[in-house]
Amino acid sequence: MNADRRIVETLVVGGGPAGSATAMTLARNGVAVELIERQPGAHDVVCGGFLGWDALAALRRLGVHAQEQGARPISRLRLASGGHVIEARLPRMAAGLSRRCLDEALRHAAETAGATIRRGLTVRGGDAAGLSVRLEDGSELRAGAALFLATGKHELRGMARPLPERGGWAVGLRAAFVPDPALVAALTGVIELHPFDDGYAGLLLQEDGRANLCLSVAPERLRAARTIDGLLAGLALEAPLLGERIVQAAGAEWISVSNVPYGWRARGSAASLYRVGDQGSVIASLAGDGIAMALTSGIAAAEAFLRGDSGDLFQRRWAARSARPLRVAEGLRWAAEKAGPRRAAMGLMTLAPGLATLGARLTRIA
Ligand SMILES: Cc1cc2nc3c(=O)[nH]c(=O)nc-3n(C[C@H](O)[C@H](O)[C@H](O)COP(=O)(O)OP(=O)(O)OC[C@H]3O[C@@H](n4cnc5c(N)ncnc54)[C@H](O)[C@@H]3O)c2cc1C
Repeated sequence: MNADRRIVETLVVGGGPAGSATAMTLARNGVAVELIERQPGAHDVVCGGFLGWDALAALRRLGVHAQEQGARPISRLRLASGGHVIEARLPRMAAGLSRRCLDEALRHAAETAGATIRRGLTVRGGDAAGLSVRLEDGSELRAGAALFLATGKHELRGMARPLPERGGWAVGLRAAFVPDPALVAALTGVIELHPFDDGYAGLLLQEDGRANLCLSVAPERLRAARTIDGLLAGLALEAPLLGERIVQAAGAEWISVSNVPYGWRARGSAASLYRVGDQGSVIASLAGDGIAMALTSGIAAAEAFLRGDSGDLFQRRWAARSARPLRVAEGLRWAAEKAGPRRAAMGLMTLAPGLATLGARLTRIA
């Protein structure tokens, strides 16, 4: 066979949580699988690092234990806005873990399960009908049985998600910094959320003791502020408690991602093409359930393939299964990011903090 054109039984493009969960499940069931990941090694990802109880359960199912990676337990949600601070218990234990650590553990587990992981190789484009992809080294790889698309927020030429052309999708920003002892104490056991006009900031402690600060913001707001520093300066004036946190992040290195289409889900697919993780559905990050959805959809897609279900059937079932968490998360995002509804919601939750717990429960995939 021509070395520049190879056929593999199953192919996974993208080695984030969705791709690794897919590859692991296939390999453990005796299916030959090759996963292509463009990053050569462990890397930072724009993510809040919050692992809900459903993500922790999916990880346990895959044999990856977050505690062994040093994940910090989280039992409470703190919401801060307009000088008000509300705390509510989460329905079950959650955790904080950097994506650098989590994703590497998952790729390692997939490799141990028998998947072939090719790192540092970018897929340049693909052909959904032919189940083939072009690699940056000029070679072509074709999936004999199924292709799993797990490139997250990144589109693959020829296989891009059919997103509506409304634009204005969110921008994500993330930095990690060393918190002072008072902030360590304040964040121990807590996920802290600071909703503001057109976005929110999330803060937690990750495995190395640093604080993970993540923001999601409308592109217009970032554009108006001109720079990340300008945005942070504006937020610090608007939200005093967030301002105290931001001061400690001075000098931290920010990474960003744009065009995050919250609320979107694939309604169908080609017969042997399975879209997993953010390629299949994108939950508002405020809900902190994207990792759980990535893991769960990866496992579900691999199991669908093993059962003989087509990519299209899997996609329609996944769209139905993810509908409620996506819808509730979009509602919460709307209420959090608009001044009037946010004030009303904060007022209601001050009287009944259980409402925040309910919101956390209704946005879970499992
Ligand atoms: C601001 C923000 C905060 C968030 N916070 C949280 C949170 O706290 N908790 C939570 O559960 N979820 C959170 N999410 C959601 C979560 O990050 C995503 O849902 C999750 O990362 C999706 O996983 P994935 O595997 O589908 O994609 P990704 O994690 O994006 O992984 C895709 C992989 O594919 C690789 N890749 C891409 N293109 C190519 C290519 N052409 N060739 C080869 N490889 C390629 C990438 O390098 C990457 O490794 C947040 C999202 C945002 C935007």
